[in-house]
Amino acid sequence: MNATGTKEPIIVIGAGIAGMTAAFRLQQDGHPVRVLEAEDRAGGRMRTVERRGYHMDLAAILLIENYTQMRALVRDLGIEGTTQRTNNVVGIRRGGRIHRMRANRPTDLKRSGLLPWSSLPAMLRLQADLGKYGSRLRWDSDMGEAAALDTETAAAYAERRLDAEFRDWVVDPMSAMFFNSPPDLSVVNFLFSMPAVNAEWFNFHDRVDTLTTALAARLPVETRAEVTQVEEVPDGVRVHWRREGEPEHTEEAAAAVVALPGPVAARLCPGLAPATLDYLANVPYVPDIHVYFGVDRRPDETATCVLFPQREHPDLGVVTFNHNFAPGRAPQGHALLTSYYRYPWAMRHWEADDEKVVELTHEVHRQAWPELARHIEAHQDMAYVQRWKNAVILRKPGDYARLRDFNRGLDPHCRIQLAGDYLAFSATNSSLVTGERAAERVRDIVTTGAVSAGRG
Ligand SMILES: Cc1cc2nc3c(=O)[nH]c(=O)nc-3n(C[C@H](O)[C@H](O)[C@H](O)COP(=O)(O)OP(=O)(O)OC[C@H]3O[C@@H](n4cnc5c(N)ncnc54)[C@H](O)[C@@H]3O)c2cc1C
Repeated sequence: MNATGTKEPIIVIGAGIAGMTAAFRLQQDGHPVRVLEAEDRAGGRMRTVERRGYHMDLAAILLIENYTQMRALVRDLGIEGTTQRTNNVVGIRRGGRIHRMRANRPTDLKRSGLLPWSSLPAMLRLQADLGKYGSRLRWDSDMGEAAALDTETAAAYAERRLDAEFRDWVVDPMSAMFFNSPPDLSVVNFLFSMPAVNAEWFNFHDRVDTLTTALAARLPVETRAEVTQVEEVPDGVRVHWRREGEPEHTEEAAAAVVALPGPVAARLCPGLAPATLDYLANVPYVPDIHVYFGVDRRPDETATCVLFPQREHPDLGVVTFNHNFAPGRAPQGHALLTSYYRYPWAMRHWEADDEKVVELTHEVHRQAWPELARHIEAHQDMAYVQRWKNAVILRKPGDYARLRDFNRGLDPHCRIQLAGDYLAFSATNSSLVTGERAAERVRDIVTTGAVSAGRG
């Protein structure tokens, strides 16, 4: 109910996890919502496609037990029965061997033989740092607490606090989880990834988009609705959108949640304050290209993912064994594997067609892991290339302090509220939390009428 007692719709733009969580929370409170989505399906970067019985999670794949707000959303949607705790064995390749460790057992790193015993003091220093800083590395935060740690690169931290072995065989491959390399990456990402992997994992049976599909089923999502502009007007917002073959649509609403990647949000909302637009336009997303292989025989590997240090291969970052992540990713007896690159490779090969990308990936496998290359080539059933232009955010030192200042400078009373992964640590749970925050602000605006006169 708004300040004058009438019900007005709230428009949410973007049906990713951020936008749909915002819409769902508003709907739970009795507000009429509408979600506009450019693609022909909801889900954004939490989406799955099926080919020949293989379920390919197109972006998010790994979910962590301490994704508290996601667990709560799963409960509120009544879909707890579709989740389970999963295998969390991570491998790191060194000298042709896979060193395996369970993510929630830091002592496995010692036992795995990945590092020499001389690195034990470095392991203890890292554990001490994680103990000291762990409470600042939260999936539900606006990164304000982490900003104080954001003073150096992961490479500089490894030099200062760890040792060369640790730098090359742990910090470097962990950076590949962000499609990146330690000299380019804030230490916050590395520290964040350690407690993230020092945890139990969970997942949905069959496909990760069980969550976004459940949200979409409860919400009025208009697909193939590409929003072209969102503007503030007296007493509300006006949203322009188009769909192929139809005249342009214009709708008015009490408020809007814009849940899009930052640069897209900047393009669509030219009326936001210049400093806001400048920040949004320059969110440093990097692209990703990764390749799925369905094979008709399971390789002899128990890890969910194997990370590649650059000393093993300069471009290949991670190979996931999706069938080990959770059930239902591949038909019975078959396997689904995915090869991810560090982002400069994706930039170099962005224009290559899918056939070429698959061919190049076979070649990379032959260099990096010949036994696996032979297995895939002998048993390949299917290959599929996925590309994301705005995949994940490359955060350099100082970026989290800028993010904290940006978040704190946003106007909570603006009728256009922002949500999305760029407002937090770039991952599903954090993105979901930005949606919940945007919903709270919009709820305040429409129920109390506390709207700012200026621009957001
Ligand atoms: C390869 C990859 C692997 C990842 N792995 C993990 C992982 O293992 N675990 C994890 O937690 N996170 C992971 N992430 C990050 C996670 O997927 C994202 O942070 C999160 O899904 C982002 O959600 P979002 O709602 O903010 O954005 P999105 O999901 O991108 O949603 C934005 C939506 O807006 C729509 N849209 C765009 N333009 C318009 C327009 N003009 N009009 C209307 N709609 C529009 C898009 O189609 C999209 O549906 C990964 C990301 C990638 C790319």
